[in-house]
Amino acid sequence: MTDPSAFALFLDFDGTLVEIAPRPDQVVVAPGLVPTLELLRARLGGALAIVTGRPIGVIDEFLAPARFDTAGLHGVERRLDGAVSGGGAEDHPELRARIARLHEMVGGLDAVLVEDKGASVAVHWRLATPADAERAQGAVEAVAAELAGAYRLQLGKAVGEIVPASATKGHAIRAFLREAPYAGRRPVFLGDDRTDEWAFETVNADGGVSIRVGSGETVAARRLADPAAVRALLERWAEGSPIDPDVLQPA
Ligand SMILES: [Mg+2]
Repeated sequence: MTDPSAFALFLDFDGTLVEIAPRPDQVVVAPGLVPTLELLRARLGGALAIVTGRPIGVIDEFLAPARFDTAGLHGVERRLDGAVSGGGAEDHPELRARIARLHEMVGGLDAVLVEDKGASVAVHWRLATPADAERAQGAVEAVAAELAGAYRLQLGKAVGEIVPASATKGHAIRAFLREAPYAGRRPVFLGDDRTDEWAFETVNADGGVSIRVGSGETVAARRLADPAAVRALLERWAEGSPIDPDVLQPA
């Protein structure tokens, strides 16, 4: 199938479109990425969205001046054609109360970062010593356990994140697929992290194409080596090559 109108494209950000950086604010957007995404979005009739753990506002800063349809905070908030739904910090008093405690628990650790996203919170330990990384993970696990039921813990690459239990990237993708211009298309989702595996399952179940970026066990059908390979593929698609995710290397 190579008709661009057959597909809806969903793209994770960190580790998929951009290389992972030591700190989340240090990622570098490759020159040419934004124009490529804009061209490809036009070719897909608008059916291109970013699906990320980051807040929508942070993605906007990285991809400025462009604004893309985005599911932020693992789907807690979603923007379609400029209209945002979900994601208000005021809806999460229980979580808010625990974030201060999380700061106290890890505040003394070097190179451990608490990222308050309003409706979710992430603890990063990429640059921490193994001992501090273990303490940071223990802290976020303890706080997540106190919030169990309404929230769940997502462990990623040197990051632990507490998110509303109902929020997942898979749900976000399905929500987009219920609305124009996504409805009726086959979803294609590219992601790199263990938290993306659930979304791969959803996309597989919906007859779409799941693409794992990088190495590691996966339920995805296809694989790309790294973000540079992702960008090269998107560039080819944007420039008019057949959109044929089914022929990529099997995972
Ligand atoms: Mg990622």
